Amino acid sequence: MIKIEPNKADDFINDDELQGYLDNAEGTKEQIRAIIAKGVNKERLTMEESAILITNKDPEIWEEIYQAARDLKEKIYGKRMVLFAPIYLGSECVNNCTYCGFSAENKDIERITLEKEELRKEIEGLEDMGHKRIIIVYGEDPKYDGERIANDVKEIYATKKGKGEIRRINVNAAPMDVENFKKVYNSGIGTWQIFQETYHHPTYKKVHKSGPKSIYEWRISGLDRAMEAGIDDVGIGALFGLYDYKFEVMGLLKHTQHLEEKYGVGPHTISFPRLNEAFGMEVNDEYAVSDEELKQIIAVLRLSVPYTGLILTAREPAELRRELFKLGISQTDAGTSIEMKSYSDEHEEAEQDLSKEQFKINDVRSLDSVLFELLEDGYMPSFCTGCYRAGRTGEHFMEFSIPGFIHDFCMPNALITTQEYLIDYASDKTRKLGESMIDDEVLEIKEYNEKAYDAINDKLQQTRKGTRDIYV
Ligand code: SAM
Ligand code: SF4
Repeated sequence: MIKIEPNKADDFINDDELQGYLDNAEGTKEQIRAIIAKGVNKERLTMEESAILITNKDPEIWEEIYQAARDLKEKIYGKRMVLFAPIYLGSECVNNCTYCGFSAENKDIERITLEKEELRKEIEGLEDMGHKRIIIVYGEDPKYDGERIANDVKEIYATKKGKGEIRRINVNAAPMDVENFKKVYNSGIGTWQIFQETYHHPTYKKVHKSGPKSIYEWRISGLDRAMEAGIDDVGIGALFGLYDYKFEVMGLLKHTQHLEEKYGVGPHTISFPRLNEAFGMEVNDEYAVSDEELKQIIAVLRLSVPYTGLILTAREPAELRRELFKLGISQTDAGTSIEMKSYSDEHEEAEQDLSKEQFKINDVRSLDSVLFELLEDGYMPSFCTGCYRAGRTGEHFMEFSIPGFIHDFCMPNALITTQEYLIDYASDKTRKLGESMIDDEVLEIKEYNEKAYDAINDKLQQTRKGTRDIYV
């Protein structure tokens, strides 16, 4: 059982403080350019500086911010794009969130919790597509406690089909108490995500009508308890469209600062889902976020927290995703279906049924088509799970702070895992393009480090001959 013991003192968000940054944000062009330069130089921005960027109204400056975000992405994350898939394991929910199809008030939707056999089939479906990294997602219900989630995690790791296996499981589920977090931690998870949805207290109250999620301080302190339980790899997020997007950006940055100050490590990832249509949704469009505003959000986050991974999901349509990736996205999902039990069905760009899922997604392309497009755009996809399994936690921080880390670890692991995918799962055209890009990349490595070239070449040859799961 999860003991819900909210404490007002755990709430570190002060609405007036966040609004104050926005109200007082002012800077000359020269000052703004100095802030942009600081960001490109990989220096963490202050709340005041980020507020100046997000409130900017000058189109010329926005172009400079976008360019800076693109440069920074190239500089820090290089060409890699980490790929994963979300999978919904349970749609029971005791909360009433006005924006979500799983809301308890929605009596007409089918509630499903995957049992062992169903879970295995779904995982095999994901493995058949070529996925190695997944995020498991749950509604909030007393039955989804630490023990249940830990058992699901163990079952998933034990499910292997052909050459397929899941090597990293992240979690998006309700906040727990420390004891329950510990149970899941011990089962071997990667990141635990909890989205605050909105950092603005009155809006939070309005959209979370009942259930444990309606208690702001319990939710905002969720990741603190995860940290206390030993999970030092956490992800934060806000659901854009509930309140003023500029305020939410300040909230995400404050949350980041809080975790950094208290635990010495900030969030591994930030997510910024935009509100999409959902069954029975009761949110008006007063705070709807336009495509241009979403670009601004991503670019400002990229410059403000250069070492935090940014996740963009299939909630966004394919063409827009392509543009947004360039601004600083480091992880994305592909081949996504959020309908329960859909990975075990034939999963090829299926029709969506809103009565079976939490909300609508806008990019239903297969993993192979997303991966092909990434290759075409010059990215190197990655299914890497190396750091977490080699015990190198805080990988994003290392990528950012340790010279040569990307060359030594991230890129070799991206090449090896993509090579595996190309042999085991890709269409002919994806395989052809992917292998020629891998060859080019390996030649580039040769130019700066002959020894590294020999090592990666050897690992790729082993992979091509059939060895699996090689990582550095
Ligand atoms: N029940 C857990 C919780 O609320 O934390 C799990 C999360 S929920 C299944 C995953 C996320 O989807 C939510 O945190 C929310 O940000 C997002 N979400 C909910 N309704 C949405 C909608 N209509 N459009 C887009 N994203 C939505
Ligand atoms: Fe339940 Fe999460 Fe949906 Fe809220 S967002 S209704 S808690 S599944």
